[in-house]
Amino acid sequence: MAKLHNESGLIFRVALPVPIDRLFDYLAPLDCHTAHPGARLEVPFGKHKKIGFLVDIVQHSEFPVDKLKPVLRVLDAPPLLSAPDLQLLHWASRYYHHPLGEVISTAFPVALRRHQSTSIEAEKRYELTDLGKSTDSGQLKRAPKQKATLEMFQAHSQALTAPELSQWDKYWRVAVQQLIAKRLLQAVSGGKPANSADSLNRQDDLPCNPPQQAAITAVCENLGQFGVYLLEGVTGSGKTEVYMQIIRSVLERGLQVLVLVPEITLTPQLEERFRQRFSVDIAVSHSKLTDNQRRDAWLQIQQGTSAILLGTRSALFTPLKNPGLIILDEEHDASFKQQEGFRFSARDVAVVRGKLLAIPVVLGSATPSLESLHNVDTRRYRRLHLPERAGQAIAPQLQLLDIRNKKMHEGLSEALIDEIKKTLAKNEQVLLFLNRRGFAPTLICHSCGWVARCLHCDANLVIHSHDKLLRCHHCGKEQRLPEQCPACKTGALTALGLGTERVENVLTELFAGKTIARLDRDSTQRKGSLEAYLERINQGHIDIILGTQMLAKGHHFPNVTLVAILDVDSGLFSIDFHASEKLAQMIVQVSGRAGRADKRGKVIMQTRRPEHPLLTTLINEGYSRFAETALAERQLAELPPFSYQALLRAQAADDDMPQSFLQAVLELAQGLNTGDTQMLGPVPAPMTRRAGVYRYQLLFQSGKRPALHRLLDELMPKIGQLKPGKKLRWSLDVDPVDLY
Ligand code: ADP
Ligand code: ZN
Ligand code: ZN
Repeated sequence: MAKLHNESGLIFRVALPVPIDRLFDYLAPLDCHTAHPGARLEVPFGKHKKIGFLVDIVQHSEFPVDKLKPVLRVLDAPPLLSAPDLQLLHWASRYYHHPLGEVISTAFPVALRRHQSTSIEAEKRYELTDLGKSTDSGQLKRAPKQKATLEMFQAHSQALTAPELSQWDKYWRVAVQQLIAKRLLQAVSGGKPANSADSLNRQDDLPCNPPQQAAITAVCENLGQFGVYLLEGVTGSGKTEVYMQIIRSVLERGLQVLVLVPEITLTPQLEERFRQRFSVDIAVSHSKLTDNQRRDAWLQIQQGTSAILLGTRSALFTPLKNPGLIILDEEHDASFKQQEGFRFSARDVAVVRGKLLAIPVVLGSATPSLESLHNVDTRRYRRLHLPERAGQAIAPQLQLLDIRNKKMHEGLSEALIDEIKKTLAKNEQVLLFLNRRGFAPTLICHSCGWVARCLHCDANLVIHSHDKLLRCHHCGKEQRLPEQCPACKTGALTALGLGTERVENVLTELFAGKTIARLDRDSTQRKGSLEAYLERINQGHIDIILGTQMLAKGHHFPNVTLVAILDVDSGLFSIDFHASEKLAQMIVQVSGRAGRADKRGKVIMQTRRPEHPLLTTLINEGYSRFAETALAERQLAELPPFSYQALLRAQAADDDMPQSFLQAVLELAQGLNTGDTQMLGPVPAPMTRRAGVYRYQLLFQSGKRPALHRLLDELMPKIGQLKPGKKLRWSLDVDPVDLY
């Protein structure tokens, strides 16, 4: 008989962050009764120790008990994740067909995926604000808990720590948060207020216009229950104001708010506005913070000491002690989709999370995704519309500039140059967009036709003249810019096409004496340099801003009155069906940068396709009409959101391997298919060779989501049995946002 390592005789089923889609059994430790699902555990795995997550406690294992190893340590009792959050992670693992251990691990900050303590570094304390000191607690007689808490603080007249408050009353957090929302208390850390601004200077809510008020009421009447609201409003229509007033109601109930934004660069702006408005503690989480900072933000929200979490995609799974509301700003943005590993959509998972937590989810955008608009049409989401700009700002005027047969100066037509001159003469700023960095995308020999190609990718090398380099934008490989043609050794080399560096050069010549800033991934690589540029732009030190799509998102440039898209046509011809939606969104987002204050903005698009229906619909009838047309086209073509897709990608250094692997998968899938799912492929990816590997793909598409998922459920375990070999890498992307 096997010797029992554990007297409890119980088995722990454990999810481990490894790319194997199964659970692992371990012998439960003696103190196993303190452990609950979701707890982090330290377990032996191979020659190493790993941190895993307790999924289930069972009596029996399929494996002989004497083969099982004991759990080394239970790290959390009670677990850090709540039951609905665990349910969410289980759902996400099934829906995205991704191993549970890796999914659960995503919910934790990196620092807690190693064994680290769960105590927050900076001890947080709470104290009365000046308003709190002078307020008569009698005013709170209808909220006895808050009244008692305020009186206790007034009696102490000093800051109190969380342990001190817990000694006074175990359930102090909700009342303290409500008092913070009422500006009677504030959180301080390390002796100074956790919020830098003086709590007396908290701004009041703005008086709302009727559509704003209607939006706020619609959500606030339904706090405490699930509902998805699509807040649609052009840039400057006052969406952020709406968010803030809804947030205020949620905070007053002592609940927490999770706010997700697509880009790190947008967090400081929003954070600043929230801090000016609210005196509650605000936690921030994004990838530019240190592991310890992210752990602290996570724990502050998990323990309830912070009331607002502002973060990017990865903050989505942070457990909320008192969940009240989820807001996802710029919901159409593709950055909400994780493109590697666990390929989840933060927007879609946020909606499921709202449902499991029974709280409202507000999705905001000037250019809602077609999926979300379709969900409004089918009454799954409720649309809240802000049709006009708030305050004084007037909507910008959009116009197409036909550049066929026009004389061009490195991408600038003479008509555009005139407009720039006029704008600069009024001391206003100009913003130019060109979505290609570098000097020019192609280097060609004038005599023999040689073109600089990447050795590792199916792509041309891009000329970077500042660094005197040729660089591949797909694999990052670079080489010296040749002075003469490497093939014929005699021909002159010519740069074809436009990049931001080239336009910057011509701007410097044409507008001598003006300050020009080029903002793209190359010029803003150094940490803090983008922020420094933005600061100089807002102080009016820059006359012409030239940038890539990086600038299309969220930034406020009040003194910019002219925006020009230099090459709108490059977006019109793509093989991916998402492209027209993305282009329309980009145009509208870019236009939103202009004339936010009292000056009317103008948006000019240079095009050789002035009759193109996408452009004319967008300009003459607006984004909503464009979206209607695009949805009708998708319906005809049976494309998402009228059907459901999953893309299986495979790659290897060898050209045959991914093809024969996908062929084998296809045959397996055909055997399982009930006829409801179409399979397209295997086909080469649009850029087949990238960084030296060959990439192929197989697309699954079905009009019935359950049918697609049933097929995937059966197929995925069988794919593992194909034993494709270590050199082949494959992945499944459910609801892919790009088909590359
Ligand atoms: P969005 O988030 O839709 O871009 P914001 O909430 O940032 O819009 O509002 C744009 C500008 O209009 C801001 O300067 C804001 O202070 C102002 N604003 C918003 N709502 C109102 C209102 N009801 N009355 C006056 N100004 C407003
Ligand atoms: Zn040549
Ligand atoms: Zn390359």
